[in-house]
Amino acid sequence: MDYKALGLTAGIEIHQQLDTAEKLYCRCPTILRNIDEKNGEIRRYLRATVSEMGVIDRAAEEEMKQMRFFSYYSYDTTCLVENDDEPPTPMNPEALQITLTIAKMLSMTPISQVHTMRKMVIDGSNTTGFQRTALVAMNGIAGGSCRIESICLEEEAAQRVTDKTFSLDRLGIPLVEITTAPCMHTPEEVKEIAEYIGMILRSTRKVKRGLGTIRQDVNISIRDGARVEIKGVQELDLIPEVVSREVERQVSLLAIREELKSRGAEVLPGEIDVTDLFSSTKSKVLKKAPCIMAATLKGFAGIIGREIQPGRRLGSEMSDYAKKCGVGGLFHTDELPAYGVTEEEVAALRGRVMAGHGDCVIIVSGTEPQASCAIKQALKRAGMALEGVPEETRKMLPEGSSAYMRPLPGAARMYPETDVLPVEITGEMMDAIELPELLTDVAERFTEELGIDSALARHIAYSDRLLTFEKAIAAGIKPALAARTLISTLRELSRDGVDCGGVPDETLIVLLSRVNDGEIAKEAIPDILRALAGGSPLEEAILSVGPTFSVSDLESLIEGIVTERAEFIRDRGMAALGPVMGVVMKEVRGRIDGQIVADVLKRSIEKRI
Ligand SMILES: [Zn+2]
Repeated sequence: MDYKALGLTAGIEIHQQLDTAEKLYCRCPTILRNIDEKNGEIRRYLRATVSEMGVIDRAAEEEMKQMRFFSYYSYDTTCLVENDDEPPTPMNPEALQITLTIAKMLSMTPISQVHTMRKMVIDGSNTTGFQRTALVAMNGIAGGSCRIESICLEEEAAQRVTDKTFSLDRLGIPLVEITTAPCMHTPEEVKEIAEYIGMILRSTRKVKRGLGTIRQDVNISIRDGARVEIKGVQELDLIPEVVSREVERQVSLLAIREELKSRGAEVLPGEIDVTDLFSSTKSKVLKKAPCIMAATLKGFAGIIGREIQPGRRLGSEMSDYAKKCGVGGLFHTDELPAYGVTEEEVAALRGRVMAGHGDCVIIVSGTEPQASCAIKQALKRAGMALEGVPEETRKMLPEGSSAYMRPLPGAARMYPETDVLPVEITGEMMDAIELPELLTDVAERFTEELGIDSALARHIAYSDRLLTFEKAIAAGIKPALAARTLISTLRELSRDGVDCGGVPDETLIVLLSRVNDGEIAKEAIPDILRALAGGSPLEEAILSVGPTFSVSDLESLIEGIVTERAEFIRDRGMAALGPVMGVVMKEVRGRIDGQIVADVLKRSIEKRI
């Protein structure tokens, strides 16, 4: 695709959890808990509040279409602030300090007084019905060319456990939100800027690591399209795919608009109850439905079923809107007869709603209020197809396509938090902030000081195990051994489904030191790590791969094997090394370094020839 010709503009919002000791507006620890450890559950009923402007935000209003009862799990690390039973404490100074450091690294201008605001969020992810957020700095630069609009310090939302249940351990962990200008024009550029900002964030060494601790929202539009925000992109490598698929979707929707115009298509209000037509249907979905509603889309035949991005059709978009009313989805005549609906039923349906050849009929099923609400929503979305691309907040689907979540939030979403005092930011405070070493510089330093090749050095600097690596080097472990284990071995294990994320640094360093000192064969590392990942203590993990061979044990083992094969060795000379090595390795593999085995065996053979 020629992105320039299409007028692609994209911006990103990066959300990164900070690794502080305490939460942002209470003194609880920022640790994630296992839900089995919960010690209580509270329930809340949330409703949209009217903003100071006297209007309910459109995104909030959309959320209100559904029942708003929620449950929250609490722990022995939860206090009354997270339960919304007590006002917040002052803003965590450590979190503010990290945010100001990031702002300084991005050449941003701090604002003189940091005010905490409330951003209305009634999807249940916050017990209060709003998220506290504070603008800290503005106007910076990333990657030489892209303007950073703002950095905000916010509280993390509660973790969703099921549709209506959340876990309070994550709620209130400090989070920075960095918003760029819409300064990117190709999918690759979006990835590069996201990668650069991610590197800046990790350079502070004060951010949480691991899945879910950093999330990207991408804003995308093309000429004549509309601004669409895709939320929750967790993997950097998927960004180009997400952007290109959204461009494809907008291009498809614009083409659909033109075709609908040329056909004189229209969307007229009015739904018809067609429940009786399906009284003896074989369709499982329709058979059990108390109410089935239908509507005709004039001139839409063949368009609803058209693919607009991989795995998604215009029908999927309409279905997303309908689902907000609690129905499972919708059927349309572009895809029927199918799903147990017969040709006769389709003909009867078309007759009832007086649909012509060029028209498409949609049906939804549920309770009467659900079906009635859903058909109106589907018609609303069909009407938008005549206009082009609707402005929306969407969620990323696993492969990089996306589904509708809600309209883009309007300006009515924010109002002041009066329970938290503003914080002054002075020039002296900014001057006192020391800029951390950039990870790109760390990588260069590893290459120069430790002689590690530059690609591997970069891998280490960017990896979750950077701190472990630095501790290993400080403990005198050979850089090559530390790098190979912490980068390659851990990655290979993770590909095999072995997650060593829970193995503490200290354990890894003790293991590496013992390998470094020749006590444990390096070949045994993967098996020992597997045992550690399975929860074994280190000594047990080492024993599980068999007792390690000392050099003297090895020497007597080899003496025995070589004596048994004395004749063979006399005949073959040094050519016997390979075959005999095989015999020895069968006994000792993984329990002593292969190089040591080769050396001892070679000496033993030399004595006999
Ligand atoms: Zn708390």
